[in-house]
Amino acid sequence: MSSSSNLQLTKDGELRHFLTPEGLDRLMLERILDTADSFVVVGNQEIKKVPLLRGRTVVNLFFENSTRTRSTFELAAKRLSADVLTLDIKTSATSKGESLLDTLQNLRAMHSDMFVVRHSDSGAAHFIAEQVTPNVAIINAGDGRHAHPTQAMLDMLTIRRHKGHFEPLSVAIVGDISHSRVARDQIHALKILGCKDIRLVGPNTLMPQGIENMGVSTHNNMDSGISGTDVIIMLRLQTERMASAFLPSAGEYFRLYGLTTARLAQAKPDAIVMHPGPINRGIEIESAVADGPQSMILNQVGYGIALRMAVMSMAMSGQMQQRQAQANQTSSLSGEKKA
Ligand code: ASP
Repeated sequence: MSSSSNLQLTKDGELRHFLTPEGLDRLMLERILDTADSFVVVGNQEIKKVPLLRGRTVVNLFFENSTRTRSTFELAAKRLSADVLTLDIKTSATSKGESLLDTLQNLRAMHSDMFVVRHSDSGAAHFIAEQVTPNVAIINAGDGRHAHPTQAMLDMLTIRRHKGHFEPLSVAIVGDISHSRVARDQIHALKILGCKDIRLVGPNTLMPQGIENMGVSTHNNMDSGISGTDVIIMLRLQTERMASAFLPSAGEYFRLYGLTTARLAQAKPDAIVMHPGPINRGIEIESAVADGPQSMILNQVGYGIALRMAVMSMAMSGQMQQRQAQANQTSSLSGEKKA
């Protein structure tokens, strides 16, 4: 996708919304990772603040439940010195029947600069960025089963910090691929960053048809699927998005696809284990692995703050440039009229 036709970018190719890594180029993803790297240290400082979003208003709009994503977005905005409002949808006017569009227009009228949106409808964040509030930076915090770009990019940050370059790595994504917005964006990001061996492991009932067209391999057998891999990413069964039963039982699923210490031995000895959370112990992962030395699960949470600081600061700066360019255009047009 060229920069001029990508809704996420300004005319000059700067990030102004972050909706999915799909359509962004390698340079942009690397810039996001480099910026995030520079923010990891902020979390280790005594005073965990930088002034990049001082005077800006960020509204967190979570129409779907979240623990990690919501709290790390809030912390990220605070560490960037923004004024942050986290709207509790259950007690807001949306629950009294106000439409999403009306809620957003009211928030825009309060001069909000950025909306962080999680919604159960695929395409919600894209729709808002395109049709509703194009001059407010929109960050997609997960839309239906479509995309979860900040999760995918914090996973890339984890991989890059612990494994280095993407080209030689073998990465297995295991479990409920069909219903996972995380898996979709991870595949896009891994491919853009140059990873050649991306393996999707899981039962056929949880494997989207035609997924091989994305340049990945599919495996129904867990042991051979994770054999010799550098990175294993486990996924949660997204039962809330399953219309009917896709599996015989949780016990059977664990027997076939659960990551145990014995299974982990099939991967490279220094392989890392990741999971976007929430984890279900004894269903997709054994406690000994989740809490073991190869687990990156808690590191991912910390990197999530740095990564979210990076996309928020980059999108805000792109959005400001765009607004300035529009203001210059309007004033030169009104100058022409007067002359
Ligand atoms: N936290 C991730 C998401 O929001 C993964 C999950 O819920 O399983 O999609």
